[in-house]
Amino acid sequence: MANNSTIVWFRLDLRLSDQPALTAAIKRSEPVIPVFIHDPESEGKWRPGAASDWWLHHSLKNLDEELRAVGSRLIVRRGDSLTELRSLVKETGATAVYWNRRYEPLVIARDANIKQALGGDGVEVQSFNGALLHEPWTIQNKAGNPFRVFTPYWRTCVTLDVAKPLARPRKIGAPKKWPGSERLDLLPKLNWAKGFKVWSPGEQGAQSNLKRFLSKAFVDYGEGRDRPDRVGTSRLSPHLHFGEISPRQIWAAVSKLPQWRHSQFLAEIGWREFAHHLLYHFPQTAEEPLRPEFKKFRWRKNAAALKAWQSGQTGYPIVDAGMRELWTTGWMHNRVRMIVASFLIKDLLIDWREGTQWFWDALVDADLASNTLGWQWTAGCGADASPFFRIFNPTSQGEKFDGQGDYVRRWCPEIARLPDRWLHQPWNTPAAALQNAGIVLGRDYPEPIVNHGTARHIALEAFQRIKGA
Ligand code: FAD
Repeated sequence: MANNSTIVWFRLDLRLSDQPALTAAIKRSEPVIPVFIHDPESEGKWRPGAASDWWLHHSLKNLDEELRAVGSRLIVRRGDSLTELRSLVKETGATAVYWNRRYEPLVIARDANIKQALGGDGVEVQSFNGALLHEPWTIQNKAGNPFRVFTPYWRTCVTLDVAKPLARPRKIGAPKKWPGSERLDLLPKLNWAKGFKVWSPGEQGAQSNLKRFLSKAFVDYGEGRDRPDRVGTSRLSPHLHFGEISPRQIWAAVSKLPQWRHSQFLAEIGWREFAHHLLYHFPQTAEEPLRPEFKKFRWRKNAAALKAWQSGQTGYPIVDAGMRELWTTGWMHNRVRMIVASFLIKDLLIDWREGTQWFWDALVDADLASNTLGWQWTAGCGADASPFFRIFNPTSQGEKFDGQGDYVRRWCPEIARLPDRWLHQPWNTPAAALQNAGIVLGRDYPEPIVNHGTARHIALEAFQRIKGA
C-alpha cells in the first residue's frame, strides 16, 4: 500500500465540494482515504438523537455514492475515534490525517487530544474551517471580547470577505488496497420515521433545496419566513448541520442576487454563525443559562403536561400542530419553534432544558449551537435573548401567522372542520359551531391544559422573584 496516503476524517462535512480537508489532502498527495467514524460516546449527553441518526444513515450512504463516482469510497468504522484513526494509520501507512473543525465543547476537547496523540505518533495532522463563514475566535468587538448581541456581530461580519467555495474534485486517488469498512445501520427500529421521506439527505438534496429556494421563496423571504402555512424558508437546516452544503456556498450563490449582502436570509445564516460564536465562547450554555439570575428560577416538574406538549395534545392548535410536525417530519418551522418553546417555558413553567432534550432527539437538524441559542433566546436567559416577559400568545400567534388555518388543519385534522374564526381557539367556539364541525372537546381534541391568561400571570410573578437576584 502506498505509504504517503492521507486520511480525510469526515464528520459534519458530508460533501465533496467546498471541502477544505479533502481538497488539501488531494493537493498533498494521493491516495486519499475518506473515513467516517461512528463514535457517539465521545459526544456524551449530546450524542446524536434518533432523528439525526436517521439523517446520518442516509447521508453517509449518499456520500459513499458520491465518492465512488470519483473513484474513491467511504470507509466506515465504529468505536473510539483515536483508536480507530490509529489503527487506520497502521493499516494504510497513512502519513497524515486531515479534518474540518467542529465547535461543540466536548468535541473540541476530543479533537485536541487526538491532534496531540497523532502528532506524537509522527503523523501530520491538520484541521480546516469547513462549517462557518467566520470562525468564533476571528470576530471580536472593539474591546477585543466576544459579541453578545447579534446586530453589531453581524454588522461586523457582513463587511468581511468570504473565501470563494472550493471546487468539487473530479477524481480522487484510491489506495491499492482499501482498509476494512463496517456496515452502519442507524435507522430507528420503530416505524416512526416514515414521514421523513419529505427529505433528501446528501449533497445533491442540499444543492437542489438551495436552488429551489433562491428561485422561488427568496424574494418574499422577509414575509414568507414567518408563515408556517407556506414553504417560505429554505429548509436547509439539516443539510447545513451535516455539512452537506457550506455557508460559503450559500454566500456565493446569494451574492449573485440583487440586495444580497443585507438580505434577511443571509442574516439568518448569520444567526447560525452567531450561535456557534456563543457556544464557543460560552461553552457552559448548552447546560446552563448564560444569565446567572436564571439559575434561581423555580421550574415546575409536571410529567403529564410535558407529555401533552411532546405529543401535541395541549389543546392549543398552533402548539399541537408544531409538535406533531416535529414528530412526523423531524423539522418544525422557526416561528412555531418559538411558539412551542415559549409555551413550554412560560405557560407550563417547565425547564427549557426539557425542551432542548426533546428537540435534540426529534429534530433532523438538531444542532448544539443553534438549539441552545433558540431555547435560551426564548427563555430570556441567553445572549441577546427575547425578554422573559415577552410571552407568546398561542392564539394570536396562530391567527396572525396561520390566518387561513392551513397549517393547523394539516397537522390537527380532527379540528379541520372548525371555521377559521374559531380554529385557533376551539375552547371559545360556540356550541353550535362545535356541533356543526362534529367535535366534542375533551373527546376529539383536548381542552387546553392551562389557561394562557392565568399562566402568563403566574410566569410573570415567577420572573419577578428572580429579577435582580
Ligand atoms: P431558513 O429560514 O431558510 O434559514 C436559513 C438557515 O439559517 C437555516 O437553515 C439555519 O441554518 C439558519 N438559521 C435560521 N434561523 C436561525 C436561528 N434562529 N438560529 C440559528 N440558525 C438559524 N436550528 C437548527 O439548525 N438546529 C436546531 O437544533 C435548532 N433549534 C432551535 C430551537 C428553538 C427553540 C428555536 C426557536 C430555533 C431553533 N433553530 C434551530 C433555529 C431555526 O428554527 C431553524 O434553523 C430553522 O427553522 C430552519 O429552517 P430553514 O432551514 O428553512 O431556515
